[in-house]
Amino acid sequence: MNQAQPIALDTSRALNLYDLTQPELVELMKRWGQPAFRAKQVWTQLYRNLAPSFDAMTDLPAALRERLKAEAQLGVLQLTREQTADDGDTRKVLWQLPDGNVLESVLMLYPDRATICISTQSGCAMGCVFCATGRMGLLRNLTPGQIVEQVLYFARGLRNNTFDATSRHDHITNLVFMGMGEPFANYERWWASVERLHDPQGFNLGARNLTVSTVGLVPGIRRLANEKLPINLAISLHAPNDELRSALMPVNKKYPIAELMAATREYIELTHRRVSFEYVLLQGQNDEVEHAEQLADLIQGMLCHVNLIPWNPVLGAPLQRSHRKRIQQFQQVLLERGIGCTVRMERGVAIAAACGQLAAVPQST
Ligand code: SF4
Repeated sequence: MNQAQPIALDTSRALNLYDLTQPELVELMKRWGQPAFRAKQVWTQLYRNLAPSFDAMTDLPAALRERLKAEAQLGVLQLTREQTADDGDTRKVLWQLPDGNVLESVLMLYPDRATICISTQSGCAMGCVFCATGRMGLLRNLTPGQIVEQVLYFARGLRNNTFDATSRHDHITNLVFMGMGEPFANYERWWASVERLHDPQGFNLGARNLTVSTVGLVPGIRRLANEKLPINLAISLHAPNDELRSALMPVNKKYPIAELMAATREYIELTHRRVSFEYVLLQGQNDEVEHAEQLADLIQGMLCHVNLIPWNPVLGAPLQRSHRKRIQQFQQVLLERGIGCTVRMERGVAIAAACGQLAAVPQST
C-alpha cells in the first residue's frame, strides 16, 4: 500500500450543513434561538427539496436565511470540470475540496436505472496496480457532508432535468460507493453518509439500492454485517490465489484470501444477503481457464454473484485488457459450475470514468 500523507478532515471553512446529523441540526437551531420545528424545515429543504441555496429556502424567515448565509455553508465542493460520454448518459464530475485536493463522481444512466458512483476519499492508499486512483496515494478522507454533496448534485440535475442525456430519469435509483477511495478505511464518516442518504424523513434512498465496494478490509466486512441497514456488499477479489492477488493488490498481504473468504462467509451467514465479487480481467495475468476454475473452487456454494470487468486502460500501467474470447471462456467456466456471473457493461471509458480509471488529474476539457 502507498504510504499516505497525514490525513485530516477539512475544518478550514464555516460549518457545512450537510455534515450535521438531524439531532445536531436541532441543537444548532436551539442555540440560535429558533423554534424546534425550524430544524425539520431546514432538513426538508436540504434533503427533500434539494435546495440549491439558502435563498431558495423560502419557508424560512429572512433573518434565519441571512444567518445561515453568514455562518454556514451549503456544501464545500467546487465543481471544477464536468465531462460527458455515451450521448450524455455518462457524466463525470471533478470536484475540488477547499484545501485543493480533488475527487470525482460519476452518473450513469441506463434505460431502467440511474446509478451514481461516489467517492469516499480523495485518492486511495490501497495501491491496486490496475487502478488509476491507487497511483495517487491517499490525500484526504471525505466528511459525511462531502460524500452526500456529490449525491445531491446529481439528484438536483435529474430532478430539474438539466442534464442533456438520452435516458430520462428524474431521480437516482442506485448508488455505489465505488469511486475514489476505500470506504471501510473511512468507515465512520462513510457510514454517517449512508444513514443520511437513507433517512426516510430526508433523502430516502432505500438501503437495497446502496452498494459498498471494498478491497477486502476484513474488519470492515465484519462491522458491516452487524449494521442495521441492509446495504449491498461488493468485494474486489480480482485473483483466485494469494500469490497473484498480492501482486495485484497489496492489501492481500494483510488480509489474505482465506481470511477474506472466512469473513465473507460469516457476513452471508449473519445477513443472508448475496455478495458480489468483482473481478477485473487482465490479459495473461488472471484470465486463464485455470484461474476461473480456482475462482469457482473458492466461491462455489456461496450466496454470491461474480461481476467480470474488462480492464479499462490506465495511463502508464503495463497491463492489457483481456480479449473478448478469454472473457467469454472465463464466464463460461463459472456458469458451468453454477455460479451466477455477468460481464459489466462498459461506461465512460472515453472520459476515464470507468472502473479503476478515476484519477482526478486536472486537465483542460
Ligand atoms: S481499486 Fe479501489 S481500493 Fe484499489 S486502489 Fe483503486 S480505489 Fe483504491
